[in-house]
Order: sequence, then C-alpha cells, then structure tokens
Amino acid sequence: MIATQDFDLIVIGGGSGGIASANRAASYGARVALVAKGPLGGTCVNVGCVPKKLFWNAANLAASHELAQGYGFAGDAWDFSWAQLKERRDAYIQRLNGRYAEGLQHNQVQLFRGHGRLLGAKQVSVDSETVLRAPKILLATGGAPIWPEIPGAELGLDSDGFFALEQQPRRVAVVGAGYIAVELAGVFRALGSDVSLVMRRNHFLHGFEPMLREHLMESMQGQGINLLAQRQVARLIRDENDLRLDFAQGDFLGGLDAVIWAIGRRPQTNDLGLDLVGLERDTDGYIAVDQYQNTAVEDIYALGDITRAPALTPVAIAAGRRLADRLFGGQTERHLDSKLTPTVIFSHPPIATVGLSEIEAREQYGDEQVKCYQSRFVPLLRAFQTEPERTAMKLITVGHDERIVGLHAIGDGVDEMLQGFAVAIRMGARKRDFDDTIAIHPTSAEELVTMR
Ligand code: FAD
Ligand code: NDP
Repeated sequence: MIATQDFDLIVIGGGSGGIASANRAASYGARVALVAKGPLGGTCVNVGCVPKKLFWNAANLAASHELAQGYGFAGDAWDFSWAQLKERRDAYIQRLNGRYAEGLQHNQVQLFRGHGRLLGAKQVSVDSETVLRAPKILLATGGAPIWPEIPGAELGLDSDGFFALEQQPRRVAVVGAGYIAVELAGVFRALGSDVSLVMRRNHFLHGFEPMLREHLMESMQGQGINLLAQRQVARLIRDENDLRLDFAQGDFLGGLDAVIWAIGRRPQTNDLGLDLVGLERDTDGYIAVDQYQNTAVEDIYALGDITRAPALTPVAIAAGRRLADRLFGGQTERHLDSKLTPTVIFSHPPIATVGLSEIEAREQYGDEQVKCYQSRFVPLLRAFQTEPERTAMKLITVGHDERIVGLHAIGDGVDEMLQGFAVAIRMGARKRDFDDTIAIHPTSAEELVTMR
C-alpha cells in the first residue's frame, strides 16, 4: 500500500517560482512539500539566465580585447577555450544546485524527487510511488523549448543543447527572433563563430520599441552577423559533414556545424493530471490565473512560465513569494503587479527596457498626450574606436506633467542602469524629476537625466 503524507502546501516544480514560494511558505511555519524533477533551480539556474550570463560575460571580455587596443594595449587576440569555460560553468551551477538543496533543508521544506501529477484537488503523486496530500497545491512546472515541425529538425539543437555543446561551432545558424535568438547569436559572434540569424519577418524582437531593434540590427550587421530576414525554414539536412538549412523561399544556407532552434517556449502542463481536477489549459497550453495566482479550481494556484505572465525569473519568484505571503503570512491582498516589469536582453550590445513603446503609448493615450525624448551618442569608453558603436536612449512621457511611461536603452552598460530607473518609474516619476536629478559625470546613464 502507498503511504500518504500530509502537508499544508504542495509545490510541483523546483525552479525559480516553485522554490521561492516553498521557502517563503515554510518561513511562516507551513509544512511544505516540493516535488521536483530535474536539477534544482529549474530553467534559470541550469539552462537559462545563469549559464547564459556566464557566456555573455565571456563574450564581453572577448569584445573588450579590440577596445583595449585603442587604449594602448598590444598583442594578438586571446586564446579562448570553450571547453574550459563550460567545465567551470557546470561546476559553478552544481554548487548552486547544492545551495538550493541546503536552503530547502534549512527551511524544512520536504523535497520529493520525481514527476509530480495531480491525483485530485488535494492530492499529488510523485512518480506514481508516493502520494502527498495538502489543502493547497501550487503548479510551477515552467516551460520547454519549442521545436519546429520540419524534416530533419532533430539534427538541430534547442537552447538546452546550446548549453551542452562541448565545442564551439565554427559556423552556426540561429533560427528565431526573440530573446534567446539574439542573445545566442551575439555570444557566438563575439566568441568568434561565423553566425547567421534566420528570422521569419523583416526584423527580430517584434513588439519591442522599434528604436531598440533597429539599433541592434544595425549593430549586429556591423559585427558581421548574417541577418537572413523573411526566411521560413523548410528542412534541415546533413550534407556530407555539414548541415544545410533549406528555406521555403527556395534558397539555402549550407556549410553549418550547428543549427540552434530559438523559436519560443511552451508551458509544461501536458502531464500534470489537470483533467482529473477539471483545470483547463488555453490553446497554447497555458493555465489561466487571476492577479492572485488563483486558477479556475479553488486552492490550486499556478505561476511562472506556465501562465501568461512575462516569462522572467524575477516575475516567477515575486509571484511565488507574494502568494506565500497571502496564503500563510496573513497578507490577504498581497499579489504581483507585473505591469512595469523591467527587462534586459543580453544581446551585444545589451538592451534595457521598461514600460510602453512609443507606438503602445500613442495607442493607449492618443498622439497629443505623448512626448518622446531621444539621445544617441558615442560613449566615452569607445572614444578611440574608428567606427564606434553608439548608445541610444528613449524616454516616452504622457500628459502635461510628462509622466514617464517607457524607458528604452541600448548600449554598453544599460543592463546595469535599468534597475534604479525602474524604481523611479514605478513610483510615478515625471520627466521633471529626471531633470532635477543631478547627473553623474562622466557616465552614459547621465544622458537619461539630461535629455532635451
Ligand atoms: P522553471 O524555472 O522552468 O522551473 C520549472 C521546474 O519544474 C523545472 O525544474 C522542471 O524540471 C520542473 N518540472 C516540470 N514538470 C514537473 C513535474 N510534473 N513534476 C516535478 N517537476 C516538474 N529570465 C530572466 O529573468 N533573465 C534571463 O536572463 C533569462 N535568460 C533565459 C535564458 C534562456 C536560454 C531561457 C530558456 C530562459 C531564460 N529566462 C530568463 C527565463 C527564466 O529562466 C524563466 O522565466 C524562469 O525559469 C521560469 O521559472 P518557473 O519557476 O516558471 O519555471
Ligand atoms: P520568444 O517568445 O522571446 O521569441 C521567439 C520568437 O521566435 C518569436 O517571437 C517568433 O518571432 C519566432 N518564431 C516563432 N516560431 C517560429 C518559427 N516557426 N520559425 C521562425 N521563427 C519563429 O522566445 P524565446 O524562446 O527567445 O524566449 C522565451 C522567453 O524566455 C522570452 O520571451 C523571455 O520571456 C524569456 N527569456 C528571457 C531572457 C532575458 O530575460 N534576458 C533571455 C531568454 C529568454 P516572429 O513572430 O517575429 O517570427
């Protein structure tokens, strides 16, 4: 007979959101079970933000070699070992996995390793071997890469496969047009690969402030990235020792060592026993929640990448902690407001963005209410380059008092600039507040408080 164990909360999924909510709930004294398959930390720690940022750092160091020459440093390009970086990255992540396990233990969250599935409104099975029971259940099972349904797709790699690469591909095609596509294309290029970025439209980062993507497209072209627009991939084939991408338009891209699919992610909700509790998914597999993370079934909650919230780690974490505050910390109205979520795309150069694009602001408030400020300049860091990469910034304001509803920047260092500005914007900052703030000189950030 299978023994049943009782808890106050069962969390399915040991990623960003699941771990954060389990720890917070336990800190209030709740008895919490966390069901996790795969390494602790989920996507972000193992095959997402963390390993990506380490590769992005490496790519920045590589790019700084050329900059350094302008400052009087001499010498050939540094030798770079992909294999060594991967080994160190893996060891670092293993240490993080260990720290997550220690954190759970410290907070007395009981960890069950295996696949969690709902058996009913208050029951969860773990690998069909253990049954857990709790009045409240949280679903936080995250997402997985989408693969194209074309012949030969299996010859390519998804972003998980990128992180498993032991060797740096010499010639690589990245197919896609979102965060992952532009980030990986930039990393490969800065580390010396020959890169093509294949997209369906004329541009990537659809939906972002157009100034950002136009700047990035120009910059990527300047770096020698081959931007292949308006291409629909028809099949991938092995051509002697190389890979070849055939396009529906009739042309092809051959001589490739690797092809990376970066065409989006889907929520992992298909094997969760949702039908047993009558919880429906939308056509793309997402679970609908209200602002309190309530699903349509009482006492079952969902958060993170299985919901339509922005698929970002801090959003999943914030939702998880607020839910625990509400359920176990007596903060009955606590919930996540993800309207002004700041985000950084770790492209080369990076993009920092929060709030509305100019188009969105004009749609929402009307043309006469919207006023924009822009700046494009050569940062001092690049003073000695013959064709220096510029930094571009844009502020979107609305109303007679010019409340800032959007801030968009691309260039060196903007990734580290955004967080503080996001606080000000969330607090309702006006253009006047920016103007009244004394600039820090000489920095690139000062442009944001000196725009005319
Ligand atoms: P996840 O972190 O995906 O965790 C879900 C966990 O649940 C996984 O461990 C999974 O194995 C487990 N699981 C699934 N089904 C079950 C089951 N039935 N039983 C038990 N366990 C289960 N976000 C940022 O904010 N910044 C970045 O720089 C960034 N970079 C990214 C780079 C890449 C390449 C990718 C792919 C994503 C990146 N993200 C980034 C997004 C971020 O990783 C996700 O938004 C975040 O991890 C979502 O958290 P989550 O808790 O919803 O799911
Ligand atoms: P995204 O949703 O950002 O982008 C995927 C893009 O792929 C789409 O915008 C679409 O662009 C394109 N696409 C879709 N289907 C096809 C197809 N069949 N052929 C060619 N192109 C296609 O997904 P990602 O996988 O890049 O990232 C998932 C999410 O993870 C992100 O949205 C983000 O929330 C998060 N993330 C965050 C990061 C960060 O914070 N820095 C980094 C990485 C991921 P189009 O419609 O224009 O063709």
